Amino acid sequence: MTGPKHSCGVVGIAATYNVVPALQKTLMIIQHRGQESAGITVFNDDGKMDILAGSGLVQVALPSNRLAELKGNSGIGHVRYPTADSKDEKNIQPFKVTTNFGAVAVAHNGEITNYDELEAKYLSAGYSFTTNSGSELVTKILSKHMSQHNDPIKAMKSMMGELEGSYALTIQIDNRIFGIRDPYGLRPLCIGEIEEGHIVVSESAAIDALNGTFIRDVAPGEIIEVMHDHFIPHKGPAHKHKANCMFEWVYFARPDSVIDEREVYDVRKRIGEILARECPADVDIIMPIPDSGRAHAIGFSIASGIPYEEGFMKNRFAERTFILPDQKERELAVSMKMNPIKSTVEGKRMVIVDDSIVRGTTLKKLISMLRKAGAKEVHVRVGSPPVIAPCYYGVDMRSREQFVANGRSNKEVCDIIGADSLGYISIEGLVEAINKPESELCLGCVSGKYPTRIPGETQRFQSKLNEEF
Ligand code: 5GP
Ligand code: MG
Repeated sequence: MTGPKHSCGVVGIAATYNVVPALQKTLMIIQHRGQESAGITVFNDDGKMDILAGSGLVQVALPSNRLAELKGNSGIGHVRYPTADSKDEKNIQPFKVTTNFGAVAVAHNGEITNYDELEAKYLSAGYSFTTNSGSELVTKILSKHMSQHNDPIKAMKSMMGELEGSYALTIQIDNRIFGIRDPYGLRPLCIGEIEEGHIVVSESAAIDALNGTFIRDVAPGEIIEVMHDHFIPHKGPAHKHKANCMFEWVYFARPDSVIDEREVYDVRKRIGEILARECPADVDIIMPIPDSGRAHAIGFSIASGIPYEEGFMKNRFAERTFILPDQKERELAVSMKMNPIKSTVEGKRMVIVDDSIVRGTTLKKLISMLRKAGAKEVHVRVGSPPVIAPCYYGVDMRSREQFVANGRSNKEVCDIIGADSLGYISIEGLVEAINKPESELCLGCVSGKYPTRIPGETQRFQSKLNEEF
């Protein structure tokens, strides 16, 4: 499978005034969903679509002096998640093209799992591609259906019938703004009202930051058109079973966002509480692995009655460790990023709580640092079940070989990372913390069962698209 393999952030805004500042602000609020590149398109007063996009964080990719040159009452934006092999500048989004029905721009979060099949189909029909991104594929398919239907909603519905996998999309066709969520609702997308305008965005925290009002999540398979004074929902193809990605709550989203009616912080805290019940430990303190393990650790502390302490100082300017291509580099980067606080750690028996273990790099390094700082016992508790299978829907966890828990017993993993004990939340415990039926969640990376057809993998349900729309 080629195509993009990363979770990202998307936004679309329509208002009665220039939306460029609001787009910039939104992208900064959802910056955690992608740090590799950022971009926006707006429809200007001269009836043209302008684009500004570049590499790096929002402040670098979209500098204020360049943003000041852009104006338009509607626009979309994108932040792209970095992966080791995604550095290609031409993959920067939004992807913008000119068609016989206007200028079209697309921002995509997710992964089209039948990308190769669709690319081959459209290549043989005479289409050409300049990138290997889902957003370009979407523009090509949309163009084809637009020339048949001459109606964007009908064209989008037909397009959704062809796409498989995960997609939260924002689409701009001249001055019209649309948001689409895939038929399983794998990746998040919600609608809000802002001053004299409306927004569709990956995470609700951005609506708060714009002083707006959250309206609701986009339903799986739904197409939303946002306008300055209202929004119009259209029912597209949806599945009977939802498959909201559990990793959004566990790790990916901001704690202050509410996704599909569940606040991320609250879910993480409950994960910690359930962990304390499922895997208790007789220790002096509970310590988070900052920042992503913090809310889980707070829940563990509250439920166990054992004091919570900060034991690591995190350098907030350090580079990201997870995506570095080489294991040595990753280990070095972890020690650049975190340093133990000696008075918290020395002579103590502790539980350290992290959201997830993927390769085990982070914890292995951190535990050896804790021992050096005088920790007496280090017990690891993890806020997701063992990650044993790849994510095909946008989280950067690819091959089974890289997962430390794959094919190893709990004791073996515990020995590799050098802990005194190791406990993960169970799948049932995680489902309880999210407080949704298991049939509404994607648990692919921890169960190896996937909501969609993936060659060589097990499909969870044989679910057909609801065609009544
Ligand atoms: P490990 O070090 O075991 O390979 O990865 C686990 C650590 O990386 C955890 O601290 C977790 O917060 C973080 N992590 C888990 N999944 C991802 C991801 O997809 N991207 C990034 N950047 N970090 C992740
Ligand atoms: Mg982390």
